[in-house]
Amino acid sequence: MKFISTRHSSAAVGYSEALVNGLAPDGGLYIPETWPKFESTDFETLSSMHDVALKILRPFFSGDRLEGQLRSILESTLHFPIPLKSLKGDTAVLELFHGPTNAFKDVGARFLSECVARLRDPGAPLATVMVATSGDTGGAVAGAFFGRPGIEVLILFPKGRISARQEKQLTCWGGNVKTFAVHGTFDDCQRLVKTALHDSNWRKDKTLISANSINIGRLLPQMIYYAHSSLTYWRSKGHQPSFIIPSGNLGNAVASMWAKKMGLPIDHIVLATNSNPSVTEYFKTGEWKSFETQVTLANAMDVGNPSNMERVLALYPDFKQLKKDISAVSVSDDEIRSTIADGKSNWNEIWCPHTATAVRARERLGGHHWILVATAHPAKFESIVEPLIGEEVPVPAELQTLLDRPSHIQEIEPTLQALKDRLSSIAPEKKSLPPRSRK
Ligand SMILES: *Cc1c(COP(=O)(O)O)cnc(C)c1O
Repeated sequence: MKFISTRHSSAAVGYSEALVNGLAPDGGLYIPETWPKFESTDFETLSSMHDVALKILRPFFSGDRLEGQLRSILESTLHFPIPLKSLKGDTAVLELFHGPTNAFKDVGARFLSECVARLRDPGAPLATVMVATSGDTGGAVAGAFFGRPGIEVLILFPKGRISARQEKQLTCWGGNVKTFAVHGTFDDCQRLVKTALHDSNWRKDKTLISANSINIGRLLPQMIYYAHSSLTYWRSKGHQPSFIIPSGNLGNAVASMWAKKMGLPIDHIVLATNSNPSVTEYFKTGEWKSFETQVTLANAMDVGNPSNMERVLALYPDFKQLKKDISAVSVSDDEIRSTIADGKSNWNEIWCPHTATAVRARERLGGHHWILVATAHPAKFESIVEPLIGEEVPVPAELQTLLDRPSHIQEIEPTLQALKDRLSSIAPEKKSLPPRSRK
């Protein structure tokens, strides 16, 4: 299997090369060249998440260096529960927040980390993993790569725009994880990573890997839970479910579209967005336009120019077909608040602000069998959630462990030069020499 660029002017490459490249050389994003096709009945004898995962991912690894290791990569990745819970007759919730950093991104980040670690030859120079984060990506990536020998992690997040507990999950690591609070927006952080990836001078003495959702190594494994939950729902209820997905950069949603494309029993897909308008505007007008990022309560979805839109457009060159399969709903901060406040009485659940956008979309829509995708644990957003529900959200054990650790953080301006300068100034610590001024 080969992966091609959405912009069609780069060579087709195998999985491992697409993963290490991150972006294709022409600036596009990697997408599979062909689509394996499945029928729901192909999975009749398979019920575990691992078995389903192996079946749907195997074709993408065929001929690749990692082909023979897929099973063990999956075993190291999927070691936490991903429950599908029934709520009311036609609605269920897929809880993606039981991983080490309580966000759906743990699945993709851990898979990516397993792949990078296995691709690195012993004795090779340091590999640098870079990630821009508007909330949960950085924590999941840091957790997934923390302590891996020969790999350093650089995390960039927009200062002051994420929750205190999210920030803690970015900054509690130390060791091979370096975290930078950038004076700017998430889009500034994302631009910085893209600039670094294109800076041949900086790249020349390191292997630089982007861990954002543009990376194929994070996207592919996200298909696993769409495949498994849609099959489970279809078998138990006899209907194809439709998914409502809290969306920002559209990485999670693209994985659901790919699973649908391959023939898994998925009916409609709804992109639940916050008040950042680029996606809903596109669905209204058919013309793609990016917007300045707006700050909302669902901060991990504060994206003005979602990078995975390029993959959506590549999958759906025909706007009519796109609108048939997919729709987009925008949810304001006021609606997020009221959805969280009414969570107990309407659904007997506590929602995080991101998941609340999907719940609100569900409350507006009818006529399908719905799976709401819950992307983060509400305890990560206690300062928003607790005043609205009037009680404390119990903190899961994984989160408490991270909250108890000290923070390591540095601030920079949103330029590659600022990042380079800061990195060279902290180089002595990397070699564990005591800084002279502290003598
Ligand atoms: C990242 C994130 C999202 C948005 O996911 P995308 O793949 O960027 O669309 C939604 N909710 C939470 C909690 C997240 O961390």
